[in-house]
Amino acid sequence: MPLAPDTPLQFVKGVGQGRAAALEAAGLTTVRDLLFFFPFRYEDRRHPTRIADLGRRIDTPVLLRGRVTSAHAGVTRFKRMRIFEAVLDDGTGSVKLIWFNQAYLAEQIQRGDRLSVYGAPRSSGYRALSIESPDWEKFEGDEDDEGAIVPIYSKVGNLQPKFVRRLVATALEALPQLSDPLSDDLRARLGVTDLPTAIRALHQPPELDDAFLRQRSPAHLRVILQEFFTLQLALRVRRVAEEVAKKSRTIRVDDELREEVRRILPFQLTGAQKRVLREIADDLQSDRPMYRLLQGDVGSGKTIVALIAAVLMIRNGHQVALLAPTEILVEQHYQRIRQLLDQSGIVLARATGSMVAGERRTLLAGLRTGYIQLVVGTHALLEERVTFQSLGLAIVDEQHRFGVEQRQKLFAKGELPDILVMTATPIPRSLALAIYGDLELSVIDELPPGRQRIKTVVRASHEVERVYDFIDSEIDAGAQTYIVYPIIEESEKTNLKPLSQGFASMQQRFPNRRVAMLHGRMKSDEKDAVMQRFKRGEIDILVATTVIEVGIDVPNASMMLIVDADRFGLSQLHQLRGRVGRGERKSYCVLVHDDTIAGEARDRLLAFERSRDGFDVAEQDLQIRGPGEFLGTRQSGAMRFRFGNIVRDYDLMEKARDLAIAVTAESLPRAEETARALLGMPVPEATERD
Ligand code: ADP
Ligand code: MG
Repeated sequence: MPLAPDTPLQFVKGVGQGRAAALEAAGLTTVRDLLFFFPFRYEDRRHPTRIADLGRRIDTPVLLRGRVTSAHAGVTRFKRMRIFEAVLDDGTGSVKLIWFNQAYLAEQIQRGDRLSVYGAPRSSGYRALSIESPDWEKFEGDEDDEGAIVPIYSKVGNLQPKFVRRLVATALEALPQLSDPLSDDLRARLGVTDLPTAIRALHQPPELDDAFLRQRSPAHLRVILQEFFTLQLALRVRRVAEEVAKKSRTIRVDDELREEVRRILPFQLTGAQKRVLREIADDLQSDRPMYRLLQGDVGSGKTIVALIAAVLMIRNGHQVALLAPTEILVEQHYQRIRQLLDQSGIVLARATGSMVAGERRTLLAGLRTGYIQLVVGTHALLEERVTFQSLGLAIVDEQHRFGVEQRQKLFAKGELPDILVMTATPIPRSLALAIYGDLELSVIDELPPGRQRIKTVVRASHEVERVYDFIDSEIDAGAQTYIVYPIIEESEKTNLKPLSQGFASMQQRFPNRRVAMLHGRMKSDEKDAVMQRFKRGEIDILVATTVIEVGIDVPNASMMLIVDADRFGLSQLHQLRGRVGRGERKSYCVLVHDDTIAGEARDRLLAFERSRDGFDVAEQDLQIRGPGEFLGTRQSGAMRFRFGNIVRDYDLMEKARDLAIAVTAESLPRAEETARALLGMPVPEATERD
C-alpha cells in the first residue's frame, strides 16, 4: 500500500510498537507529521577527505571513506566502559573509530566492510588519529555514489538518527498526495513554489548554496511566506468579518466643533499630531468601525490626540471609555483630562478598583444611562456588569497587552465601538505588522517643539557615589529624582527586598532629603498619595519599581537613576527615561550596572546611551532579544515561526500582509476557507539544537 499523509507511523515498514511510541512522544504520529519534521541543519558529505590530508583539519567534522581493517569490542581500563573500536583505512592512511556503550556494533561493523564515516578526528598520540562516535553508513557498490547532503533532525527519544533519517526519506513517498493549502493563483501571487516541492527540498536539498544557507532558497521562501500569510490572513479575515456590519452612528465634525476643540487645546498641535488626528477623524466619520494603532515615541503627545477624538465622539452624542494599564495612570489621565475639559461641561468619571460599593453603583448607573460621557479606568471597565448607554469610542492606552479577547469584550459593550490603541513604547514596524496586522497604523513621528535631549550616561556601581553627589546638587537646584529598582514584574510572589533595601539606604545616604517609596503592591490610595506629593514637589527622591514606567508626567523631575540597568530591556529603559525631560530643566538619566557585568551587557547599555529615538531603541531591542522576549510571553504565541524571522524577513511579512488584504477583499468566504486550510496544517516543532 502506498504511503499517504494520513498513514499512522506505526504502519510504516520498520516502525514497530516501541518506535511508534517514541515517535508519538515527540509529536510524530502520521506520515504528514514527518513531512513537516524539518532538519535543523545539514551536513555536506559528498566529498570525502583523504586520511593523509587530515593533518590540519583536526577537530572539524570531515567525511572519510574506507575499508575496516580491524574491529573489536572491549572494555576500557578506566571506568570500565564497554567500547567498540574499528580501524578505517582509505589507502592513504588510517584512523581509529571508537564507540562507547554500543557493543551491538560488533554485529554491524566487521573487518572488510566499506564505510562512510562522518565526525571530528582528534589526535591520539604521535601521528595517530581517532574519531569518537562518528556517524556511519555502510556502502556497497560504487564508492562514488555514496556522497550526499545529509539532513540532521532533532533527536527523537533514543531512536538512532540514521533510522529517523531513513524514515523521513520514506515518508517523502507520500508527498505527491499532499494537498497544497495555497491555490495555484495564490502561489503565483506570492511568487512561491508548491508545497511538496518545497518540503522535498528542505529534507533533501540538491545543493547547499548561499541562498539555501541564508534561508532564502525557493523552498524557504515558500514556507516562510506560508507562515506569515497564515497569520496575516487569519488576522484579516477576523477583522473583515467583524466589519461587515456597518456602524449606525453618524459623526459630524462642523466648524462649531472645530472651534471648541481649538479652545480646549493648550498648545499648537505638531504637524504629525494634526495628520494623525485627521486619520482618526476620518475613521470616526466612516461607516466601518475604526481599529487603529496610534504609535509615537515617549512624550510625542498621544494623549491630547486621543482626547480630541473623544471630544468629537462625545459632541456627537456618544460615550467614550479610556482604558489604562495601571491605577496610577488612570489617576493621571483623569486629572489631566479634567483640567483640559474644565470649561467644557463634559461629564467625566474614573473607575478604579478601590471604589466603595456606593461609588461603584453610581458609576455603573451613570454609564448605563449615558449621564457619564467620558470614563477613565483600568481594564476593570471590561467586566461584564459594566454597560454603556452608547459606547462610541474606546481608547486603550497600553503596552502590548491589548489582545483579541479584550477587543471582543469591548465590542460587546457598544454597537461596534471605534477602537484606538495607543502603544506606550514604540514597536518596530515589522513587529507592528506581525502582531497588529489587522490594525491601521498611525505614527506620530515628531516631538513637540522645545524638547531637550536627555543626557544619558552609563556608570559602574563603584562610581555611584559621584552620581549621588550630583543628585544632591540637582536637588539643591530644585530638581526631583527617580531612583528605579529592577523588580520587573510585581506579583504576590515578587520579592520587594531589593527595593526596600534601596529605600533604606537612600534614606541613609540622603538624610536631609525627603525620600519616599512607590511600588505596585501598595494600596492604590497610598500610591496615589505618594504620586500627588511627588507632583506637588513634596518629595525629593522617589525610590520606585517600574510602576513609574508608563506615562507618569512630573515635569520637575529631571533626574533618573536606574539601578542594575542591565536587567531591563532597552525599550523599557527608554520608557523609564521618558519620565524625565518633560519640563524646562536639563534632564539626566544615569544607568548604573554592577562592576562585574559582562562586556556584552555593558555594550548594550552603551548603545542605549547613544540612542534617542524610541523606534531606534525598539529595533535594537528586538534584534537583541528576539520578538518573544521583546513582547513578553503573552503575545509571543503569535510569533512562533519555524522558518520566518520577523526582523530578517520583514519584506516578506509586508508581502504576506498585502496579499491577505487583497484576497480578503476579493472574497471573504474564499479567504476564510484558505485560512482554515492554512491553520489546519501541522505546526512544525520549534527549532532544536543538538
Ligand atoms: P505620550 O505620547 O508619551 O503619551 P503625552 O501625551 O503624555 O505623551 O505628552 C507629553 C507631554 O507633551 C505632555 O505634557 C503634553 O501636554 C505635551 N504636549 C503634547 N503635545 C504637545 C504640543 N503639540 N506642544 C507642546 N506640548 C505638547
Ligand atoms: Mg502617554
